[in-house]
Amino acid sequence: MTMAFDLPNLPYAYDALETSGMSKETLEFHHDLHHKAYVDNGNKLIAGTQWEDKSLEEIIIGTYDSGAVAQNGVFNNASQHWNHIQFWEMMGPTGRAMPSELESALSEQFGSVDGFKEAFTVAGIGQFGSGWCWLVQKADGELSVTKTENGVNPLCFGENALLGCDVWEHSYYIDFRNKRPAYLANFLDNLVNWENVASRMK
Ligand code: ZN
Repeated sequence: MTMAFDLPNLPYAYDALETSGMSKETLEFHHDLHHKAYVDNGNKLIAGTQWEDKSLEEIIIGTYDSGAVAQNGVFNNASQHWNHIQFWEMMGPTGRAMPSELESALSEQFGSVDGFKEAFTVAGIGQFGSGWCWLVQKADGELSVTKTENGVNPLCFGENALLGCDVWEHSYYIDFRNKRPAYLANFLDNLVNWENVASRMK
């Protein structure tokens, strides 16, 4: 049995986020070209290898090299495939009211929801070059904000990803040009599906 990577459809229409600061053009490029390339390249790289019949999570954890200066191709494509699946689900035209249990958890850890947003934005701006910023739940249940380079994600560190923002330029260049801080602010204020984020808490 093989478990080839599949490109999922977006969970909403391409123009569903247009009035919230993420254009149809961005989603067409980002999903149909960038995400698809990770799927296609990943399938080529795992074909005929020990990873062919493994789950996506197993491949990511099994190919991550904590000591490497640059990660290998199987890891990069598998992790970016996973990251983008989560990213599409973490945004949406619905679910934007923050559930009270998430609001309480953020306030407890970061002082307030605004305190969380500030920490998340600092992480996203501070990621030099391509990567991601995250709200994670650690093994002990504590919430934390992190940033990772390229395709590296919380699975590599045994953490539960509650929210991730793609800070590769391909995610914001069409709508925000080089203004990553404006993209991050808009992401947090207008794009996140907080119900999805809350549903990921354990
Ligand atoms: Zn991306």
